Amino acid sequence: MSYLSDVLADVNRKYSYQPEFLQAVREVLETLEPVILKNEDFYKKEAVLERLVEPDRQIIFRVPWVDDAGNIRVNTGYRVQFNNSIGPYKGGIRFHPSVTLSVIKFLGFEQTFKNSLTGLPMGGGKGGSDFDPKGKSEREIMSFCQSFMTELYKYIGADVDVPAGDIGVGAREVGYMFGQFKRIKGSFEGVLTGKGLAYGGSLARKEATGYGLLYITEELFRCHGMSFAGRTVAISGAGNVAIHAAEKAMQLGALVVTMSDSNGWIYDPKGVDLAAVKEIKEVRRGRISEYIEYRPSAEYHEGRGVWGVKCDVALPCATQNELLLDDARTLAANGALAVVEGANMPTSIEATKYLQERGVLFVPGKASNAGGVAVSGLEMSQNSGRLSWSFEEVDAKLKDIMVNIYHNIEAAAAKYGMEGNYVAGANITGFEKVVSAMTAHGAC
Ligand code: NDP
Repeated sequence: MSYLSDVLADVNRKYSYQPEFLQAVREVLETLEPVILKNEDFYKKEAVLERLVEPDRQIIFRVPWVDDAGNIRVNTGYRVQFNNSIGPYKGGIRFHPSVTLSVIKFLGFEQTFKNSLTGLPMGGGKGGSDFDPKGKSEREIMSFCQSFMTELYKYIGADVDVPAGDIGVGAREVGYMFGQFKRIKGSFEGVLTGKGLAYGGSLARKEATGYGLLYITEELFRCHGMSFAGRTVAISGAGNVAIHAAEKAMQLGALVVTMSDSNGWIYDPKGVDLAAVKEIKEVRRGRISEYIEYRPSAEYHEGRGVWGVKCDVALPCATQNELLLDDARTLAANGALAVVEGANMPTSIEATKYLQERGVLFVPGKASNAGGVAVSGLEMSQNSGRLSWSFEEVDAKLKDIMVNIYHNIEAAAAKYGMEGNYVAGANITGFEKVVSAMTAHGAC
């Protein structure tokens, strides 16, 4: 057995109960094979892969909070500090009932590579809780966020670990957590990103992941001699990433025809009315089913189904494993040109391989959704320099970063004879930088 397959077998054995984490590790390690084979003895002696797949530390804690009826409720909190070889740990916090240690580990592992791809000095980490913000009052959300931070504050800091938002955590939750950190520590520091603009947040952070996704998609099309304008786009999700992806896609001249949430999805062949989606999701905090009140001519369907709609470009922007083999078959049969991931690991390994084999351009989330963490990195720079850049300045830097990511992953794939395999290109680019830092630091 090769060094790589030995490590993969070990991880599979040790963490057989963590399916999402195993999926992420397998996806990365398999594509690193040509790199490892070139210098196997060195990587083995340095235990590079063993060090990459084992987080620096995993913090699990109880989060007690009081609901509106006066009952004490308890959730589980997590922070996995995966790898700080190239900078302080950095990665979002997710509040969703599906959160487990496996989910947080997969996200932290991916984040290490993603952060490296941005070219900014940020290590990888991720956190969250199985708390479900849906249906909770403002007071309950605040109570939960304060309790979560009452434990988490011990482990984070502007030069140590800088969390941000993710599913279920937006500006409101970041605000409550920031307030609690400041109160406990008595220190105003850039310990979280995605902050409100009044207290150290960056312009364009809210838009960054979705806009960045479209900047890389546009570059992908340009480099394949195609124009993006005029394309039909299917988007899943109706949260932060999906909304801003739709917004930029429309600005670039595309027609966005679908959006979804965990209950169902809408199809609007005339083009989604984004103002309506924003009002439903950002103001009313409602369900996507309410869209037909705004556009009676549109369709609403319960359950999954977005990928059954004929489109040129599919942008999965909701959650992990939402685009499976059958969906990939349908997309390819319907003539889709590209699948570019806005969410983290939305496409299963089988679906990814199928799309690649059929010549559908495929860009993995760790490259294509890196715009969010990139602007988080820019927020950290602004906080350290006590500065505030204009929207245009941040947006221009974001675009540069996304275009660079595309060219770097494209070149890395080509260097190892895997032209057009952006999954391999992203993993290799991220790997080479993190490993060169890690090995420079000795056995740690
Ligand atoms: P939000 O919470 O703002 O939105 C998530 C959207 O996905 C909602 O529409 C939600 O529907 C839907 N969704 C969540 N879980 C499921 C599920 N199990 N099945 C079906 N739909 C689901 O999150 P974000 O937009 O911030 O994040 C979306 C994805 O993008 C995640 O994978 C996240 O990790 C990734 N990402 C986010 C970044 C950011 O800057 N925010 C940066 C990089 C990646 P509902 O409201 O019904 O739950």
